Amino acid sequence: MVTQEQISRAGVVGAGGAGFPTHVKLNAKADTVVCNAAECEPLLHKDKEILRHFPRQVVAGLDAARGLVGAGRVVIGIKRKYADLIDHLTPFLTDSMEICPLDDVYPAGDEFILVYETLGRVIPPGGIPIQVGAVVMNVETALNVAGAVQDEPVTSKFLTVTGCVAKPVSIRVPLGVTLAECIEAAGGSTIDSPACLVGGPMMGYLESNPTNARVTKTTGGIILLPQDHPLVVSMSRPWTSITRIAKSGCDQCSHCSEMCPRNLLGHPVEPHKAMRSLLFGADVLVPGTQFCSGCNLCSRCSCPEGLDPRNVMQANRRKWAESGQKWTDPTFHRNRADMHMKNRQTPIPRLVRRLGLTDYDVHADWDEKISAQMMNSPMVAIPLRQHIGAPCECVVKPGQTVKAGDVLGVPATKDGKTQLGASIHASIDGTVVSVESGVVTIQK
Ligand code: SF4
Ligand code: SF4
Repeated sequence: MVTQEQISRAGVVGAGGAGFPTHVKLNAKADTVVCNAAECEPLLHKDKEILRHFPRQVVAGLDAARGLVGAGRVVIGIKRKYADLIDHLTPFLTDSMEICPLDDVYPAGDEFILVYETLGRVIPPGGIPIQVGAVVMNVETALNVAGAVQDEPVTSKFLTVTGCVAKPVSIRVPLGVTLAECIEAAGGSTIDSPACLVGGPMMGYLESNPTNARVTKTTGGIILLPQDHPLVVSMSRPWTSITRIAKSGCDQCSHCSEMCPRNLLGHPVEPHKAMRSLLFGADVLVPGTQFCSGCNLCSRCSCPEGLDPRNVMQANRRKWAESGQKWTDPTFHRNRADMHMKNRQTPIPRLVRRLGLTDYDVHADWDEKISAQMMNSPMVAIPLRQHIGAPCECVVKPGQTVKAGDVLGVPATKDGKTQLGASIHASIDGTVVSVESGVVTIQK
């Protein structure tokens, strides 16, 4: 059986985007492990490709996690539209595992929504899955836990490279390669001066310098789009413009609140009220903004006026954090999800059309040959912080020879206590050429 120490030593963190250290998450008792195979961000396919090509390892990782938290079962949430993948995966499952087919909606992969859809349990506002007896684990994280069982550290990342590239593809690359190298691996850009989106189109961010930016343990996708694509234009809008348009354009129709996934769960998340608060000065704390997931559904799809309630919610959420105040007993309509969730969820095809991504909505198959070439990269620059928590303490020096898998950094200590974090490892064989600004550069 795997131990927390093995998982910590292997540097496993949530690969679905959050980067929370997995050994800490698994330091709990739960009755169910829920595998997040929903992959609901449009255009991304790397989790499905991992399941297709490494099913045995994913199942082994889930089983190890199940044993560690003492759970009786594992439920794998995967879209029912991938019937072929479900058929492919089923023979590998153990007796304690089952598949829960999910609707093709956004955000099916939000762990609050996933736990409700797979187990029928509602996590309270501001809560975490363990409060309802569940631990949620992403597909790639499970794969990395299987590696930890064999004492293999995390040295690579799966990601989808798509959009305006010659060959949309899902690949495995060593940690620390540049985004530009990944784009070249996908045949390069098909347009001049593309915008580079890191992550999915709903929750990703624009990267202005893909030649310098590096793949980390949480990079899930790279999407190239024209600079004048509506998604890029809206992501580039400055805050002053967001608030000015919101004040004059919001008619308080409340469609954003009625379609909000957290609101549908019964949480007190009402983006139309945050929009209204803009008219009442900068210091208003709007109850419920603390529980906004940032899923962007209100801004990218629900609002008929094309406004940006998500960023208004997140700005107000930051105000709550700065104020030091807490809403200790939030209103919570536990039965609301049963009444409204199914009628109001947003189908992915509608979302793709709304985002203007129909032309880019192609499957990005796994390419083993390109992955093998990428794993042979001549140089990597590896940040010592690729997780939630404190940056790791570096344990190597310039001039030192390292092998792929050697430890570069360990969780920092403060006042004799180990800080939240996960070890960082070399992703290629080579020589450490520099340790600067929290980044270790290794040359073959
Ligand atoms: S932000 Fe948009 S959806 Fe929400 S209340 Fe205003 S106009 Fe309606
Ligand atoms: S981003 Fe919008 S839709 Fe998503 S949880 Fe926040 S308020 Fe709701």
